[in-house]
Amino acid sequence: MRAVVAETTVPRYLWTTAAGRVRSDAGWRRGGLFRLAEDLLAPALPGPGWVRLRTELAGICGSDVGLAHARISLVLSAFYTASRVVPGHEVVAVVDAVGAEVDDLAVGDRVALDPVLSCVHRGFDPVCGSCARGLPHACERFDQPGETGCAAPTQGFDAAVGGGFGQVLVAHRSQCLPVGDLASTRAVLTEPLAVALHAALRWQRDGDRVVVIGPGTIGLLLTAALRRLHPDLDVAMVSPGSFGDERAIAVGASRILPTGPAAVHALAEQDGGRVLTAKRTPLPLLERGVDAVFDCVGYPDTIDLSLHLLRPGGTLVLVGAARQQPVDWSLVWNRELTIRGTINGGPEPSLDGRRSAEHAVDWLADPAFPVDGLVTHLAPLDRWQDALAVASAGPRARAGKVALQPDPQLPLVGPVTALQPRP
Ligand SMILES: [Zn+2]
Ligand SMILES: [Zn+2]
Repeated sequence: MRAVVAETTVPRYLWTTAAGRVRSDAGWRRGGLFRLAEDLLAPALPGPGWVRLRTELAGICGSDVGLAHARISLVLSAFYTASRVVPGHEVVAVVDAVGAEVDDLAVGDRVALDPVLSCVHRGFDPVCGSCARGLPHACERFDQPGETGCAAPTQGFDAAVGGGFGQVLVAHRSQCLPVGDLASTRAVLTEPLAVALHAALRWQRDGDRVVVIGPGTIGLLLTAALRRLHPDLDVAMVSPGSFGDERAIAVGASRILPTGPAAVHALAEQDGGRVLTAKRTPLPLLERGVDAVFDCVGYPDTIDLSLHLLRPGGTLVLVGAARQQPVDWSLVWNRELTIRGTINGGPEPSLDGRRSAEHAVDWLADPAFPVDGLVTHLAPLDRWQDALAVASAGPRARAGKVALQPDPQLPLVGPVTALQPRP
């Protein structure tokens, strides 16, 4: 099969890091971490409860772009030990073969993937403490392949089970969520929406004002999720430019805030409260801060801004991306802030106990859920480098979600308005 492959070897990692200092496309040029494989062996079914899938559409996640740029957390390398990866964990696919124990999926069914592979998928019995506590999305054995052969938390990080940037992958039956004739460009948002919904639920509502930082796909889906969960909540989006502003309002943001110190001043002007200045630091403090901040960027300046925007007792939800960052954490203890982290979707006891990905499919099937237009670019596998370049440029290229269509034989479903990335 054809697939974009990441060879996560030390020489390619070092080459990508070194060449990346002078050019932005080092990761997908010759010698870089990513390459296009023309004849990769398709993964085999690990067991009778598994299915083989043909990728219809696969979203490019910020983590895929991060991997292409060799921007990875060394701590988390404990969970990601595969040396060959087929990226792509935001997948809508068509069932191509079913194992002997799968009796409720048929060849030809369209499914969205919940990519988390926990103890039950790996055949571990008894399950780990985390899975036993209802947190399979933070399984303690993410590094152990078990029956799957996958030395990573999800599909898309080990070629053993494949990923959406390839034409074929395998998944456990329980990971496959039927989507019927849901439009491809909505169904492909299932995994990022599951992440966003789970992030929204990491805050137990204790106020009326929240801030979301970063109008990328996760930030927008999180805004849409907060709006759906809390119709009366004031959701302010910190956005660096007009491209993100319009998109944030379209998915339900109440208002837009500028980035940096101006965000503090804008909130003080609009909502009242003093602005407190600290010595020799760029950011002022807000006296009447907001109840929660969802940082979907995870850079030092956004984490710092989050801490400065929160009221005493407020909650910072760090969504995904943060790596090792130099941040002054003094406000955490001074103002008794709570920090909660999140990256995967999982069971949602505060809803009805079903997984976030299952709720995501329901929401995406509702035409009133305003996420059309989030997917801006679609590319065939032949244009994978252009797709990565556009995804990497993000708002500078007026790009939201960029998705790959690995199999030209598989038609997309529903209205498709996305563009082709330009080289
Ligand atoms: Zn992702
Ligand atoms: Zn586990």
